[in-house]
Amino acid sequence: MSKIECAFCKGKGKDPFGLLSELATCQVCGGTGKVEIIEPTIKCAFCKGTGIYPHNGRVTCTVCNGKGIVTVKGETEGCPKCKGTGVAIESGLPCIKCGGKGVVSKK
Ligand SMILES: [Zn+2]
Ligand SMILES: [Zn+2]
Ligand SMILES: [Zn+2]
Repeated sequence: MSKIECAFCKGKGKDPFGLLSELATCQVCGGTGKVEIIEPTIKCAFCKGTGIYPHNGRVTCTVCNGKGIVTVKGETEGCPKCKGTGVAIESGLPCIKCGGKGVVSKK
């Protein structure tokens, strides 16, 4: 387990959009500015590492839960369905095959 800067609030510990109040703490890191992650990780393909859900811009990415990175286990390769973007072309939702990570386990 290691800690990285919270992508959603960029390490500030505050809700970047001030949805509840301007002083609201970041829901991803709980106000600490840091999030715990389990290695090995890759950048979240769906939100491109921002931690922000691409289409609604004010909520956390559902793939990485706002951390901007996702844990991958074992050997992976680019998802053939979304071509590594993590986005389902038809719907704009996270790719069903890779879950939005952009990579799938190698068989
Ligand atoms: Zn945060
Ligand atoms: Zn994400
Ligand atoms: Zn995919």
